[in-house]
Amino acid sequence: MDRPVRVRFAPSPTGYLHVGGVRTAIFNHLFARHHGGAFLLRIEDTDRERSTDEAVEQILDSLRWLGIDWDEEPVFQSRRAELYRAHLERLLAEGKAYRCTCKPEELDAKRKRAVAEKRTYKYDGTCRDRGPDQADRGPYTVRFKTPWEDLPRSFDDIVLGEIPIDAERLDDWILARSDGSPTYNFCVVVDDADMGISHVIRGNDHVDNTPRQLLLYRALAYTPPAFAHMPLTHGPDGSKLSKRREAEYRAQGISVSVQEYRKMGYLPHALLNYLTRLGWSSGDQEIFSRRELEELFDLGAVGRSAGIMNPDKLKWLNAHYLKETPPAELAGLLAPFLRERDVRVEPGERLVRIAEMLAPRARTLEEMADAAMVFFRAPETYDPKAVKKWWKADAAAILGRIRAVVAEIDLDDEQAVEQAFRELADELAGGKLGKVAQPVRIALSGSSATPSLFSVLSVLGRQESLARIERALDEIERA
Ligand code: GLU
Repeated sequence: MDRPVRVRFAPSPTGYLHVGGVRTAIFNHLFARHHGGAFLLRIEDTDRERSTDEAVEQILDSLRWLGIDWDEEPVFQSRRAELYRAHLERLLAEGKAYRCTCKPEELDAKRKRAVAEKRTYKYDGTCRDRGPDQADRGPYTVRFKTPWEDLPRSFDDIVLGEIPIDAERLDDWILARSDGSPTYNFCVVVDDADMGISHVIRGNDHVDNTPRQLLLYRALAYTPPAFAHMPLTHGPDGSKLSKRREAEYRAQGISVSVQEYRKMGYLPHALLNYLTRLGWSSGDQEIFSRRELEELFDLGAVGRSAGIMNPDKLKWLNAHYLKETPPAELAGLLAPFLRERDVRVEPGERLVRIAEMLAPRARTLEEMADAAMVFFRAPETYDPKAVKKWWKADAAAILGRIRAVVAEIDLDDEQAVEQAFRELADELAGGKLGKVAQPVRIALSGSSATPSLFSVLSVLGRQESLARIERALDEIERA
């Protein structure tokens, strides 16, 4: 690498951070860390009407959550008007740009004519031919003087290879609007040059902008960065991620917005691992620590086709990381999900035990919180299927005997409790533990699917366990 590596992530703060966008951020970040370079942030907020401070905060917050730290102060385009103006003046003075005083109505008429004649419209260069002296012709835009006689034929992209440059798709594009505000392609070049960006790693929806940007680098006599355009992120059905389909995505456990993943109970590293692996590979390894990603990440191994989101795989990875998280930490992560379910809970020893018990069975913190509710709420109803199967004619007798055991025994001695249950099973059910255990499970939780019954009894404690068994007995009597 002949220049120090400096890359940037350049979101427009007009809404939440898009999951496709953040994948670009992750690739930039890993690339920078891999090469010991700098990862910079640039907030592209020139659209003053649509950009908001809340969106900036939300984006920074999502990046922090994912552990994507940035170097240096973020650059805000809205604070760089001076820099853009200076570049514009330089281009005008050097005859590499010109003022265009064509009226919007005139341009509109030409555009309509092109459409009617089934031609692609492009600016015809009327003012380019008029020469520089147009000062008295009223409001003007500034256009780039495309060097038609000397166009490069192609450019190299690290991911996509050689991309031909099609002169048909170029015109004397606008650098600054009639109110003086600079346009996107112009600002990007000025900023990337000013920030010393060595590699532009961005979504491949920007491939078409690259020829214009390259010509501008040349006009300004700046060294262009290397370009790497990333494939986009698509939904599970293979079509482009669309905000309008958010409800459908949510039902599958994904979202367009990074923030939502946090709310759905994904761990940040699971999402990061997932999004990195979506479109990049290193052998057939699926699980990567942060360190490994930084060591292994390489733009050469980024694929060319769109990454298709697979909710099951994301959940599988998340389940893996839930199991890897120390229970005390997990309890802290779980607590807010319980509070959202109106459970007042502080992360303490009890919650740590609950987290430890549930981690092997949950794929998200949401699922974990749902499963944890058994410890905070007595069942209001009993699953009819489970009842039919397990609360048979002898259920009252079994629960009555269990009640007696639970009233006496030390519930924290799980082995002793299990031993007592086994003895009861020998006596009442021909040694079949399930016949004794399942009716109790239903009594305690309303369903026959809970983690270890003995752990549940121990965490619930004597008083609560007895109260639930009592209620189940009432219910059975009533039925
Ligand atoms: N603000 C642009 C976007 O959000 C980024 C442009 C770039 O990376 O060059 O798509």
